Amino acid sequence: MISEFIELFEGVALRTNPERAIRLLGLLPPSFIEAMQRARFRRTLRLATQRSPFYREQFRRRGIDVRRIEHPSQLGDFYTTGEDLRTSGAEQFLTGRADTAFETTGTTSPVPKRVFFSRREVATMGRINALWLYLLGLRRNDRVLSAFDCSFWVSPWVLRSGLDYLKCFHVEAGKIDPEEFYERARAYKPTVIFGEPSWIVRLSEIAADRNVWPVKFLFAGGENITEAARKLTEHAWHAPLYLNYGQTESFGALGAECKMRDGYHRNDLYFFFELADTDKDGYGEVVYTTLARDVMPLIRYRSTDVSRLIDDNCECGIFAGRLGKIRGRCDEMVVCGMGNVGPWVFEELLRGVSGINDDWQVVVRHQGQRDVVELHVELSDGSPPSAVEKMVQTNLRERFGDFWKNREMRLYDLLVVTCGAGSLRAGGRKLRRVVDERVMLGRSENDRDFPGVAQI
Ligand SMILES: [Zn+2]
Repeated sequence: MISEFIELFEGVALRTNPERAIRLLGLLPPSFIEAMQRARFRRTLRLATQRSPFYREQFRRRGIDVRRIEHPSQLGDFYTTGEDLRTSGAEQFLTGRADTAFETTGTTSPVPKRVFFSRREVATMGRINALWLYLLGLRRNDRVLSAFDCSFWVSPWVLRSGLDYLKCFHVEAGKIDPEEFYERARAYKPTVIFGEPSWIVRLSEIAADRNVWPVKFLFAGGENITEAARKLTEHAWHAPLYLNYGQTESFGALGAECKMRDGYHRNDLYFFFELADTDKDGYGEVVYTTLARDVMPLIRYRSTDVSRLIDDNCECGIFAGRLGKIRGRCDEMVVCGMGNVGPWVFEELLRGVSGINDDWQVVVRHQGQRDVVELHVELSDGSPPSAVEKMVQTNLRERFGDFWKNREMRLYDLLVVTCGAGSLRAGGRKLRRVVDERVMLGRSENDRDFPGVAQI
């Protein structure tokens, strides 16, 4: 009964103007939000059991009677993983008619994960997104320029669906060279700029050398960023840079920064957050259950991002709890200026390169404001390092157009570092293929005791 009332209340709130919507939603006490989460969770479970072949089979095999489940933790060790999406296929998860789909790549394979949505879901998430942008100061008279990659990627859609609600002026540039963007953007003088973090950092380097126009804020989604790079951006534009935390699987908005920029306020109305494999400091893998999705609900989806849940009040006064800054990932994928790169990317880069051994290792570090991807390989037969590097560069250009393009835009550097045979496994320990050495907002748990990697 309470949950029906809240659904109705929320529906009314989301249909009114942003200012009133924020005021109305802010009136909901935490106990009401918890009641709604539970009701929506039970509804999601029922839907998944009735219509999704994947979930029906999983619950049947594990003897889970969903009628008895009231909280995600009662599902024990049942989780949904990115690998499940890839191997079972998105169609096995469908519970309703889809209107659109987006894709994202993962760690182990070039096969993308596909995620389906309805237009209604896109519009609803757009409204939530818009309310957040309104809180950060975006208004109808602002001029927005965005430079998100539009190819199969969710971010431009998330933004557009939000701006449909706020109704401000918007031009989509696509992910073009920041130099070109800077020159063309000047004609519009955007007051708010959206893009991927490493792209925004490169744009800010260019802007710092030339002139800037008044900007209210910059907003980045898609990867993590170092505090030094954030400072450079904010200094160049004399404006704050806010980060969004989301995944294609969640349709963007799992959480976003407020003006304090100290963690991401969670979207608890639409997701149920848990942590898995928590360590003594309270950090664990972020796991979320979608609460308001009719087309492709995800139950206890493992994000592979490591963070913690913060329920203390934030100084900004917004009631929603937070996710801490993302510390790293618990798989070997690295999100950097090159793109989303995992071991398979480098195996493909090295395929057919002569004069090297099978062992290799990638170290991602930060130099200046740029990510540097160092590909360490062992020379086997005295081939000149320059020949190996040339073959790798050729493979990058021919096999990974997007990664090549990001390099041309100077969003990262790729270096090939050659070393003697056997040196990568010196010490006899297991070779970790991809090591992220950057000091991010936090730091990765995974890098802690790896031999040969400088402790930062
Ligand atoms: Zn806050």
